[in-house]
Amino acid sequence: MAIAAESQQEQTASSESVAAEKKRWTLNDFDIGKPLGRGKFGHVYLAREKRSNHLVALKVLFKNQLKQSQVEHQLRREVEIQSHLRHPNILRLYGYFYDQKRVYLILEYAAKGELYKELQKCKYFSEIRAATYVASLARALIYCHGKHVIHRDIKPENLLVGAQGELKIADFGWSVHTFNRRRTMCGTLDYLPPEMGMLYCSLQI
Ligand code: ATP
Ligand code: MG
Repeated sequence: MAIAAESQQEQTASSESVAAEKKRWTLNDFDIGKPLGRGKFGHVYLAREKRSNHLVALKVLFKNQLKQSQVEHQLRREVEIQSHLRHPNILRLYGYFYDQKRVYLILEYAAKGELYKELQKCKYFSEIRAATYVASLARALIYCHGKHVIHRDIKPENLLVGAQGELKIADFGWSVHTFNRRRTMCGTLDYLPPEMGMLYCSLQI
């Protein structure tokens, strides 16, 4: 059973739960399990939503670190964009809540973790496996672009793998909605071809 939630004001615990109930999530709604990983601004834990028993990944971000690095706007964009996307190959962002010190993102749990780590483990993917990932990625990006969303930071670290081995695009921190917006370059320099890296540096965009 899925937790469905758009924003702190519009969240409902599940489609079967009390109709149209306005739900504000708090930490008490979850049993916290093992750590899944560490990000730049906080930690990610496996968690279980108590009422539905649904497993999620709870990303805990520290407000002071977000402020210090001036990335609050990026987090807002990540929540706004990712919470509205619905595609089997895009990691769901079910909702968020916060307390005095932290912001919590309620994310779909990707049981097999980062694609990057899978790739490191087996060195290279078989042709069929690589083709399946590329096809899933292409379908998810076509869906995003149809909604005028560009991710701008596709790389193996930002691709997660679900329990059935399905690819899930994650980390919409750099994404933008392109209505009336000039496309600007961004992403991770490691993944830019050298000639683009030079352009990036010289134009400072
Ligand atoms: P960075 O900016 O350094 O990438 P971040 O703040 O974006 O960090 P994430 O990359 O989202 O943090 O999370 C850190 C790690 O936690 C990931 O590398 C992954 O291993 C794990 N993780 C994050 N989200 C999930 C998820 N939904 N399911 C399973 N594991 C996850
Ligand atoms: Mg990341």
